[in-house]
Amino acid sequence: MAWIALLAPLLAAPIARAGEYDATHPLVKVVASQVRSNELAQLLRQLTGAEAVSTNGKPAFITARHTTSGKPLRLALNFAGEQFAAAGLAVEYHGWSRAGYTNRNLIATQPGTTRANEYIWFTAHLDVRSLEARAPGADDNASGCAAVLVAAKILSRFNFERTIRYALFTGEEQGGLGSAVEADRARAAGENIVGVINADMIAWDKRGPPVLRIVTRTNSHPQFAQDLALAAAVTNVIQSCGLGRELSPVITMTGNEASDHASFWERGYPAVLVSEDFTRDGNPFYHTPKDTLARVNWRYFTAAVRALTASVAELAGPVGRSPIR
Ligand SMILES: [Zn+2]
Repeated sequence: MAWIALLAPLLAAPIARAGEYDATHPLVKVVASQVRSNELAQLLRQLTGAEAVSTNGKPAFITARHTTSGKPLRLALNFAGEQFAAAGLAVEYHGWSRAGYTNRNLIATQPGTTRANEYIWFTAHLDVRSLEARAPGADDNASGCAAVLVAAKILSRFNFERTIRYALFTGEEQGGLGSAVEADRARAAGENIVGVINADMIAWDKRGPPVLRIVTRTNSHPQFAQDLALAAAVTNVIQSCGLGRELSPVITMTGNEASDHASFWERGYPAVLVSEDFTRDGNPFYHTPKDTLARVNWRYFTAAVRALTASVAELAGPVGRSPIR
């Protein structure tokens, strides 16, 4: 493992420095600048039950999101679906049953223009691990879900060559159950997924540099180069969008399978996990009811959402401003 740790900083070196070659599409920088910290904060408050969401005109609170929690997770799924619909996206709920659990995934789709049969997925898991009645799961993983929702809101204002799927999974904490069913469905449909960006825990930064890990399979894997291309898109965007002070991206070639991206790896699709520095600066409160809003590093979190939204835009191939309907 030591050699991987040594190599990682080399791979994370900025590809384009100021004044040097920068292939990033200009619209990608526009997209990054449209991530507003107040919008992000409101979504995080709503997903964690600190602020009401409105359902059938009545205020309600998302108090918990365990896959077996019933009503609160249903509320979270409905709330998120309404956010996608408000962005003008086609919304689908896909029911799943696996390993004794049953729930739904939420998928919103933004059709591509010239390469509509090529898909970029931006994913996060909506469920939490803690079974407590009050389980905010702010970092794990309301943070990733807020990133997907904000990205959908912003990117739906633009055209892209490729089709973008925004996905919120359930059953992640039981072993990527919802995402496994979804990746099976994509594989069976012959869906040409050219990249999956999975955001899981992107709001904790306490010690040391603000490391953002981009996890690929190991470099002996036959599909490593495809994962690396996705990871490089993220690191390039961080530099070209001027996020290099807020984020220190580190490409991590460990093949860590601890989240939903592994469901896509297992079915032969390129994917990366984007996460905080779980090895050197891990969130000690994750999987407990103490994973709260108060512990969020807002500067780091906002920068991570900017980087991810811009990365999805870059990978999808920006075409122009107004969406084509
Ligand atoms: Zn977790």
